[in-house]
Amino acid sequence: MAHRIVVLGGGTGGTLMANRLRRSFDPAEAKIAVVDKDDVHVYQPGLLFVPFGLAHAEDIVRSRQRQLRAGIDFHLSDVDQVSLADERVVLTDGTVLPYDVLIVATGVCLQPEETEGMTGPGWRERIFTFYDLDGASALHEALERFDGGRLVVNFVDLPIKCPVAPLEFSFLADWYFQERGIREQVELSFVTPLDGAFTKPVASGRLGSLLAEKGIELVTEFNTGEVDGAGGRLVSYDEREVPFDLLVTVPLHGGQEYVGRSEGLGDDLGFVPTNPHTLQSLATPNVFALGDATNVPTSKAGSVTHFEGEVLTKNVKRFLAGRELDASYDGHANCFIETGFSKALLIDFNYETEPLPGRFPTGAGPMPLLKESRLNHLGKLMFQWMYWHMLLPGRDIPGVAPTMQMSGKQRVAEPA
Ligand SMILES: Cc1cc2nc3c(=O)[nH]c(=O)nc-3n(C[C@H](O)[C@H](O)[C@H](O)COP(=O)(O)OP(=O)(O)OC[C@H]3O[C@@H](n4cnc5c(N)ncnc54)[C@H](O)[C@@H]3O)c2cc1C
Repeated sequence: MAHRIVVLGGGTGGTLMANRLRRSFDPAEAKIAVVDKDDVHVYQPGLLFVPFGLAHAEDIVRSRQRQLRAGIDFHLSDVDQVSLADERVVLTDGTVLPYDVLIVATGVCLQPEETEGMTGPGWRERIFTFYDLDGASALHEALERFDGGRLVVNFVDLPIKCPVAPLEFSFLADWYFQERGIREQVELSFVTPLDGAFTKPVASGRLGSLLAEKGIELVTEFNTGEVDGAGGRLVSYDEREVPFDLLVTVPLHGGQEYVGRSEGLGDDLGFVPTNPHTLQSLATPNVFALGDATNVPTSKAGSVTHFEGEVLTKNVKRFLAGRELDASYDGHANCFIETGFSKALLIDFNYETEPLPGRFPTGAGPMPLLKESRLNHLGKLMFQWMYWHMLLPGRDIPGVAPTMQMSGKQRVAEPA
């Protein structure tokens, strides 16, 4: 009998896994089903550009179903719950999907209502997020109307998707207001719960210097407890205040609600406890997870999801053949960081090694690490083509291995 593989989520991870598995298994060997609640696949890195008019909503959206190879069943429905004991998924449209292998790729849920006041007075008037399509489009209109004052960029707490995106937004805002000739009328602040611009010391030092060079104020260790939209204030738990005229916020992230309804599948935040090297869930051997839905200690990023997909494809095959799993996933992540004026930085790291300066993909590679360059910016732009034509179809990226390479990286003393 054919193996029954069910993939929850038809975003980055679900799509690339289903396509990779469809290529790996003959149709007689495995039936593959993907479930998603909508048919709107957003290229999420493109959300950064929408507020600045550098991309339009229709440029970054495609049908989910059309990204799936022939021979994959697509179910357009919310997941109601997973029964690990019965090895089946129940959808809200009443469909029941029994599985031999389940892959969880349902990403994260934005939770603006978890922060006091965030969705109260001023929400979508002077308080915006660019982390979803509607928010990014509404922010575009607000930025066009904004002709001076205090613009504050804040993320409430980690984990968030693409933790560098709020920094990129700040750098692009500096560029945008310069282009409009009103930079001197705008005060820009980057307000973070971290003790520096980024989580890891070397990158934090470099990105902090870049904020300073661009005249963007850095406010650290600010744990947002309340957003006062009417008064235009961010208030921290230790009662510090940051005033704003326009707030660009990244709300708290949690797992999807159905994870909480599925006994044994998730942790308290709704993320799926997952072996960080094999991507097998800790709940039960025939459940695996990838992408933002897991609790593995690396960035929540599309690059991570792609690298995980290479290892996970092998592991689904190995699991079904009764063989030992491949434990080679090392937390590899890389990300372009747009800095404005047609330049970007690039970072490349894993569980053990923080982002370091050097060259990418190897010592002789053309792209500088942790340093602004035009080539990195072109790489960021080209990534959208690669996303639709290489990542989602489940192809490897030539010259970029799923595990991080030390070749090309320079060890440096960490800032004191
Ligand atoms: C503004 C922004 C900028 C970013 N920039 C970058 C970048 O430059 N580089 C990078 O590598 N990454 C970037 N990312 C992160 C990247 O987009 C995500 O990490 C990646 O998409 C994760 O893939 P995923 O499959 O885990 O989740 P997703 O792609 O979000 O897919 C999850 C899917 O699950 C579905 N789903 C959820 N709940 C249910 C349910 N109950 N029933 C049915 N379906 C459900 C959703 O509809 C969705 O299709 C960025 C993200 C944002 C928001």
